[in-house]
Amino acid sequence: MTKRQERIKIRKDLFDRVKRAVIKVGTGVLTHEQDLNAGVIKRLARGVSVLMDQGCQVIVVSSGAIASGMKKVGMTERPADIPHTQAVAAVGQSRLMLEYEKAFARYQKKVAQVLLTRDDLCHRRRYLNARNTLNVLLDWRIVPIINENDTVVVEELKFGDNDNLSAMVTHLMDAHVLINLTDIDGLYDKDPRVHKDASLVSFVSKIDRALERAACDIPGALGTGGMSSKVQTAKKITTSGIPMVIASGLKPNILNSLFQGKDVGTLFLPKREKMTSRKCWIAFTLKAKGAIKVDMGAARAICKQGKSLLPIGIIGVEGEFGEGAMVRCIDADGMPFARGLVNYKASDIRKLMGLKTNQIAQRLGHKHYDEVIHRDNLVIVVR
Ligand code: GLU
Repeated sequence: MTKRQERIKIRKDLFDRVKRAVIKVGTGVLTHEQDLNAGVIKRLARGVSVLMDQGCQVIVVSSGAIASGMKKVGMTERPADIPHTQAVAAVGQSRLMLEYEKAFARYQKKVAQVLLTRDDLCHRRRYLNARNTLNVLLDWRIVPIINENDTVVVEELKFGDNDNLSAMVTHLMDAHVLINLTDIDGLYDKDPRVHKDASLVSFVSKIDRALERAACDIPGALGTGGMSSKVQTAKKITTSGIPMVIASGLKPNILNSLFQGKDVGTLFLPKREKMTSRKCWIAFTLKAKGAIKVDMGAARAICKQGKSLLPIGIIGVEGEFGEGAMVRCIDADGMPFARGLVNYKASDIRKLMGLKTNQIAQRLGHKHYDEVIHRDNLVIVVR
């Protein structure tokens, strides 16, 4: 088998297993001359419909609200302040959905608008609610079209960009692949807009420093996330055991080509077995409220033997947080290696540092748990 044939086989095997996909479409793909590109949306609807007819469930994460709103209210530049941006997004979102409605109706498919904020996904109940609702839509064979709820979101609660939102949706829905459709063919080893000899990276099995550097940050004029935000997304997705693709959403039949195993775009291979949706939520959706520094023995026991974090291995606590908060675990050199939900608040953990579990009750006056972080609530993120 030639290298090329081998690659096609890997891709084909991988896509054959995909029964649920998240497809993220960027503003650069959806717009043309500062307006929504109805032709691209139609092609996308056709591609998604074909996948659905083949038995694959599809969730679309779509940008384009702000760009489309700008056109509708006659603006040529993105507003500088938050209220105007949020108003423009409100205007544009309905227009964006109208295009999706029309495009999918041609293929007898219905769509549903789902607007999320990061805050929605950080609360376990709201997270599960969102998941249940999306599952019902998928059961009904309706395409959820998800965007950030730009009109109400405040800066601290933003997903950052839709690349990040698409990662969280992939985890939320336990999808088998994340396909990020953008306006270039994939990840290049150099910036193709500057270097004529830049070549497309077809496969990525490890995201190293060099690759991160190559992912030059060139956001489109209308969108937000650049290539570097896509590579950061790929890091999270592959760490959770899910493959991701960056490919051009402007190429006709791109979805079909990908599912046929064709060597298009950049495929990021998963780093390990698929993590459960709950562990993904802990590791990639929640924001860290602090950090716990542990000694080498504890770090080894957590990473190599899947143990819980006990007070005896703790050598420091950073930040103030309450019970149930998500914190980073860092080793004695300050390197983060895991994330987990704490059973004790920061001030209590400071009191418990270095103690044996049979000393907890005496020190605190109560003991609800032996573990500061139970292994079921602990996720290793590097190593
Ligand atoms: N939510 C924004 C919009 O619909 C896009 C954000 C992004 O592309 O990252 O315009």
